[in-house]
Amino acid sequence: MIGLFKIFDSHVHFYSNAYFRFLVKQKTNRLDINTELKNLAAKGHLEIPGEDPIALAKKWIEVIDKWKIERMMLFGSIPGDEDSVVKAVQAFPTRLTGMFTVDPNSNVLMENAEKRLKQDKLRGILLYPSMYQISVQDSWLDPLFQLCEEVRAIVFTQFGKLTIKSRDYAGIPVVVNEEFSNPKDLIPVAKKYSRIRFVVPHFGAGRFEETLELGKECSNVYVDTAGSNSWMTDHPSKPDLRQVLQKTLQVFGAGRIIFGSDSGMFPRGYRYDIVDNQTKLAQEMRIPLPDAKKIFYENMASLIDGPQ
Ligand SMILES: [Zn+2]
Repeated sequence: MIGLFKIFDSHVHFYSNAYFRFLVKQKTNRLDINTELKNLAAKGHLEIPGEDPIALAKKWIEVIDKWKIERMMLFGSIPGDEDSVVKAVQAFPTRLTGMFTVDPNSNVLMENAEKRLKQDKLRGILLYPSMYQISVQDSWLDPLFQLCEEVRAIVFTQFGKLTIKSRDYAGIPVVVNEEFSNPKDLIPVAKKYSRIRFVVPHFGAGRFEETLELGKECSNVYVDTAGSNSWMTDHPSKPDLRQVLQKTLQVFGAGRIIFGSDSGMFPRGYRYDIVDNQTKLAQEMRIPLPDAKKIFYENMASLIDGPQ
């Protein structure tokens, strides 16, 4: 607990050893695995964790204990790395919850999603339409959305600008199709699957106005506040976080905004600066305490645990 807020961080990347291995495997002219990992670590000034995901989970728990963060949502950030997240969550079930990135074009999409959501009890999926070159409206995704609706899975859907630092360090360019990065594409989908709770990270990562339109139309869409929101500097209206939060509160209300830090890499570890900035901003803006409690803890807790 920080001041009067309990914190549920809804956006933390679990960059396991396997994550980095899967990542460098995607390179075309790759060297041997150990050289690739060493180069990546040197380029990004990163620590690549050891092979045991439970040891990494334990490290995260120590870090968040220090910063007094109650709970975290861990993202398996590359298709194939689900097991790492499952093990982490199973080791610390009261503190950690997990979701996983899907490759919508995978041959084993549904088989894997069923297993991960039903058996392994991961609580949601991450979709990157622009990176996987598929519209969120594509009918290929219908079985996936039906499954998410059935098991009450959360669907994080990334729109707008996509920056993946670990890919830059690995020398793997992120090829995106901007055509699929418009949050408004989600409107018919969120209407059709009205029992799914969708989360759009980073207030739409640059597609802010479209995200507000989406939020106006669909009451089952949430936004997260994750990270430094560097998109604001490239946005034509150059808003600051106060303006962004103010407008978002007007449209979404405090019940559909969730806090995230976008932490992930070591040695940086937990991005306490993000918590600090955003909790201070909430106080400066005089967001009523019950609303701040929703944003920093309760909204995410109720998405996961059901209504309190
Ligand atoms: Zn992120």
